[in-house]
Amino acid sequence: NANSPEDAQAGIERVLESTRDMQASMVALKARLEESRREAEQLRAELSRSRDESSTDALTGLINRGGLDRALRRCIEEAVDHEGGLSIAIADLDHFKRVNDTHGHLMGDRVLQAVAEILKTNVKGKDTAGRFGGEEFVILMPDTPLEGARTVAEQIRASVARCVVTHVDSADSLGNFSISIGVTRWHPEDTVESLLGRADEALYVSKKRGRNCVTVLQ
Ligand code: GH3
Ligand code: MG
Ligand code: MG
Repeated sequence: NANSPEDAQAGIERVLESTRDMQASMVALKARLEESRREAEQLRAELSRSRDESSTDALTGLINRGGLDRALRRCIEEAVDHEGGLSIAIADLDHFKRVNDTHGHLMGDRVLQAVAEILKTNVKGKDTAGRFGGEEFVILMPDTPLEGARTVAEQIRASVARCVVTHVDSADSLGNFSISIGVTRWHPEDTVESLLGRADEALYVSKKRGRNCVTVLQ
């Protein structure tokens, strides 16, 4: 609607100016978007770190009870879907109260750490070992038949029986200690509780048989 060349010129300049303004806000918006993206990435990394921390047992570095519960539920879901042979083991240190009473709680902690290292060395591939609580550990072995699980448990038992832990302030050995283990496999009608219950029953039999042994229940 320009009435004169001057009007048209002024109009064009106004359009140009708003285009420049628009460009400037686009640049600012892009910078803000980039900053938000970086923040989101940082938050995601922090979340994943704190998730890992909340699943980790501070003393042994193994996964803790919560992590084990989640992992066991995942293993069962997979066993249902793929008809894989899930086996599990529960291991409990023998006469551990005595270790604490004789050598002190700190030495007891060192024994727990040594056992955790043995578990980390012997538990491979898809298998998971965690601290169930106190001096009890659980090993989840997906796609593993009972005989395979018995072999893993036997290796762990033998390594613990051979293990030497020394005193904090001397090279003196604590003497021998041992672990009892119960092994069982998952059945389609099992719940988490019934599966853990049967592994616990097997463990109880190992204790009854004199400890430092592995018992397998179907
Ligand atoms: P059993 O052979 O029948 O299993 O005997 P036990 O003495 O191992 O069993 P009990 O359940 O009587 O004792 C378990 C002990 O484990 C008692 C407790 O003080 C000790 N314990 C549990 N958690 C820890 C820990 O984090 N550190 C230390 N040092 N000791 C622990
Ligand atoms: Mg116990
Ligand atoms: Mg015990």
